[in-house]
Amino acid sequence: MRRHQVPTGRLGGTLVNIELVKYPDVFLRKVSKDVAFPLDDKTRRLITWMTRAMYQHNGIGLAAVQVGYDVRMFTMDCTRYQGKPQVFINPTIVKNSEETITDFEGCLSAPGKQGEVKRHIRITLNYKDEEGEEHQKTFYNMEARCIQHEMDHLEGRLCIDYEKGEYSRDKHKSQTMVDTDFRVKSDS
Ligand SMILES: [Zn+2]
Repeated sequence: MRRHQVPTGRLGGTLVNIELVKYPDVFLRKVSKDVAFPLDDKTRRLITWMTRAMYQHNGIGLAAVQVGYDVRMFTMDCTRYQGKPQVFINPTIVKNSEETITDFEGCLSAPGKQGEVKRHIRITLNYKDEEGEEHQKTFYNMEARCIQHEMDHLEGRLCIDYEKGEYSRDKHKSQTMVDTDFRVKSDS
């Protein structure tokens, strides 16, 4: 998920420009697969790569599918100073607040576009960390919104598929899909 404002803190110290998979690439429509534990080296490198990509593009969250891997994990850092990256592996939302809020969201994979999306104010997430340890944690406001945005990526959904807050199958379908011959890989 894209930041509303570019932070004044340090940026993600890398000289390599990490290309993201961008809308309307059909790859973004893939339903991601579970990550196997213990993590292999490739997956560990992918997590580092995702964190760099998120900071470099001024994101607060980034799903693996956005860098070319359809596996169920995402990184997030909603702090102002970009110093507290977290990774969420095989996440599931186990509880939702009844209260929702509708707001505009941007996506690093859909530059210049916005979706008006209704999200739960509070969610409880089950997920694994890099060591395979299981966690359950409750998130609020911006973090809750960001997690719901990234969880959509794992299902092949985008914030621009929403209309007036609601997810729209028709809008999803009507969006032109192209298959690009260019794909980003972290081990290239
Ligand atoms: Zn996104």
